[in-house]
Amino acid sequence: MHSYYTDTPCTWCDGCGDYGIWTAMKRALVELGYHPWQILLCYDVGCHGNGADKTRAYTFHGLHGRVLPFAAGASLANPNVPVIAFGGDGASFSEGVGHMVHSVRSNYPMTFVLHNNANYGLTTGQASSLTWQDQPMNSSPNGIPERTLPSMDFIFSLEPTFVARGFSGNIEQMVRIFKTALQHRGFAYVDILQACPTYNHLATHDWLLSHVYDANSEGHDPSNFEEARRIAVDTTDRISTGILYQNEDIPSFYERLIPRQQRKTTAVEEVERTDVSELMKEFV
Ligand code: SF4
Repeated sequence: MHSYYTDTPCTWCDGCGDYGIWTAMKRALVELGYHPWQILLCYDVGCHGNGADKTRAYTFHGLHGRVLPFAAGASLANPNVPVIAFGGDGASFSEGVGHMVHSVRSNYPMTFVLHNNANYGLTTGQASSLTWQDQPMNSSPNGIPERTLPSMDFIFSLEPTFVARGFSGNIEQMVRIFKTALQHRGFAYVDILQACPTYNHLATHDWLLSHVYDANSEGHDPSNFEEARRIAVDTTDRISTGILYQNEDIPSFYERLIPRQQRKTTAVEEVERTDVSELMKEFV
């Protein structure tokens, strides 16, 4: 764990779910035997995105809502390096929702972790498309007029190959989910319900703790698509967590790329290094 340490001070609020997700991911990487120089962590903009400075590894901190395209590009350029993309519910289901559609249907070989605190925390608590409809937020004191986006139903409508849901207060379960996701063949979608004690006063740590249950320990079969969708969408009384759906039979986007098949090298290894110093003299 210490090899992932940086001395950049943590700026997350006390009690923020980011701490648990950050800790669980590092533990999962250590337990899988990855060193910091063997992985790429990509961060969207948001409170969680400051994790780019708090984790010693190859990290990339990009534009708002755009974490998926550059993470997918990195994964396809060098599939030997595990790529994990982190995004918030605001960026992932508003600014970047188009990228989400195509990442799931493309089945890029990478892991996506949704920091789902149901608001824009970094910009001081505005409603996102996943905020509950009647919930007062700083930008919408009477609640949002739009319906809340049913994110799990939406993801399942895209025929994903891996869907999991965790809770930022359950590190053991998150470690198990992350380890399984990192070994998935294609696009692993992981929704982590995250407490934001500063701005989300309804989906608090205690509220989440009292509503989540581990579907796998209750016998849920992750190979059953219809049942996985049903328990993912139905949050009326309880919220299912764990590995909800997993299908290792579908090839990833990279495996379907005919020009890459039979290749022993990656695109990164095939880049030709050309000395352009003579050419550049024309412009001096
Ligand atoms: Fe965490 Fe919310 Fe504070 Fe952001 S505003 S650091 S999400 S508690």
